[in-house]
Amino acid sequence: MADFVINPPPTPVIPVVGGPFDKGSAFPVRRVYCIGRNYAAHAVEMGHDPDREAPFFFQKNPENLDNSGTFPYPTQSKDVHYEAELLVALKSGGTNIKTKDALGHVWGYAPALDMTRRDLQGQAKKMGRPWEIGKAFERSAPVGPLRSVDDVGHLDAGLIELRLNGEIKQTGDMNQMIWKVPEMISYLSDYFELAAGDVIMSGTPAGVGPVQRGDEIAVTIQGLDDLIVKVT
Ligand code: MN
Repeated sequence: MADFVINPPPTPVIPVVGGPFDKGSAFPVRRVYCIGRNYAAHAVEMGHDPDREAPFFFQKNPENLDNSGTFPYPTQSKDVHYEAELLVALKSGGTNIKTKDALGHVWGYAPALDMTRRDLQGQAKKMGRPWEIGKAFERSAPVGPLRSVDDVGHLDAGLIELRLNGEIKQTGDMNQMIWKVPEMISYLSDYFELAAGDVIMSGTPAGVGPVQRGDEIAVTIQGLDDLIVKVT
C-alpha cells in the first residue's frame, strides 16, 4: 500500500436501495458526466434550436454528489436554478461502445438535481469560458438512492417531474430525451474511456427556475424513490 502523505479523501458514493442490497450499500463514483439541452422544450427555453445537433457534455466533480437531503445556497450567486435529471450509473465501460451494447454497462438509476448558478453559467457562456463555476460547485448534485437494473429495469420512458414547495414546475417523459441513454453512453465512449463508477446525468425537461433558502424541491421519476431536498 502506498504511503500517503495526507489522509486519502473519502470515495464519493451514492446510496443504494431495493433488491437484495442491505441498508448501507453504496455505489462508488469515479466520474460525473452531464449532458446539456437533452429535452427539446428545455433547449427552446434556453434560447436554442431543438433540432438534433451533436450532443455536448460537461462534468461535475464526484464529490459534488450529495445525499444529505439539504442543499446549502451557494456563495457568489443570486440566481441558482434546479434541473431535475435521471442519473445513470455504469458498472463497466470501455471505448467505442456500440449503441446496441450500451445498456449492458448500466448498473442502475437514481433521481438527481443538476443545481446551477445560472448567472455565473450565463457569464461563462457569453465569454466563451468553461462552465465549472456555474455547475461544479459544492453539493451541486443532490442525488437520491440508486436502484439496480435488476430491481427497476431500464428507464427509457415514464414521468420525470419536479415540484417546488408542492407546485409542479417541471414535467416531462423520459422518452422525450433527444439523445437516449444508450446513445449518450456510445457517444461519450468515442471521446472518453468509460469505466465502472462513472455516472451520467441525462438532462432536464423544460421549466427550470430559481430556488430560495427555505424552499423544498421534490424530484419524482417513475420507478424510483422521490428525491426531496431542502434549500438552506
Ligand atoms: Mn442539466
